[in-house]
Amino acid sequence: CGIVGYIGRRDVAPLLLEGLQRLEYRGYDSAGVVITGKSGDLRTVKAKGRVRDLEARIPKRFAGTTGIAHTRWATHGAPSDENAHPHLDGEEKVAVVHNGIIDNASELRARLTLEGTVFTSETDTEVLAHLIARSPAETLEQKVSEALHAIEGTYGIAVLHKDFPDRIVVARNGSPVVLGIGEKEMFVASDVAALVTHTRQVVTLGDGEMATLKADDFRTYTTEGSRTTATPTTVEWEA
Ligand code: GLU
Repeated sequence: CGIVGYIGRRDVAPLLLEGLQRLEYRGYDSAGVVITGKSGDLRTVKAKGRVRDLEARIPKRFAGTTGIAHTRWATHGAPSDENAHPHLDGEEKVAVVHNGIIDNASELRARLTLEGTVFTSETDTEVLAHLIARSPAETLEQKVSEALHAIEGTYGIAVLHKDFPDRIVVARNGSPVVLGIGEKEMFVASDVAALVTHTRQVVTLGDGEMATLKADDFRTYTTEGSRTTATPTTVEWEA
C-alpha cells in the first residue's frame, strides 16, 4: 500500500515514521521498517495495526542513516506481524517492501520450497526477497532485475541489501514510485505526500523502470539495464 525510503546523513527512523504517517490516509492494516544499523546488519521492526503501534516497538537505540518502510494492505496472507513488510531472506541480507500483487507467487513459492527455502510469511512479497538473495548476479541492480524477470504481476518495490549498504534499489510496474531528490540525501515514496516536507524535486518512475539511490546521486534505468533519462521536476504542494 505505502512505501517510504531514505538514504542520507540524518537519523532515518524518525524520517520513515513521519513518512508512513503521511501515507496513513490511504488505509492499511500493518506497518514495518528496516534500517541498516551501525554494525551493518539489517534491523527490522514490524507491527500489525497502526504506525503508532510500530513506533512503540522501535528500540531506544535504533540508529542508522539508510532505511525503507511500508504500510501494508493485505492481499496474500492475513494482517499479522509476520506478514507485515519488510520481508527478508533467511540470512537477513535482503529486505524488500512491496506494493502490488505477484500473480505467480504460489508457483514460485512451491519451487523455492522444493529447493530448500524456508518461508516465514504467507505473503506473495516474500518470494522476491528469496529470489534476490539467491541470485548469482554480481550487482544489486542485476539481482533485483533478475528477480523481477521471474515474477508476473504489479509492483512498486524498494530493496536494501546488507552487502550493498550505500544504496537503495527501487522498481516500478503498475504501482507508483516517486524519487525525492535532496541535498546529499535521497527519498523514495509511493506518494509525493510522503516527500514534500523534505524536497519538491521529484522524479516519477515509469513502468518497467528501476532506480538506484545513493546519498548524493541517483540513476534510473530499465529492468534490462539500459539507462533512462530522469530530469527532476518541481512539485507544487500546498502544506
Ligand atoms: N501483496 C502484498 C501483500 O499482501 C502487498 C500488499 C500491499 O500493496 O500493501 O503483502
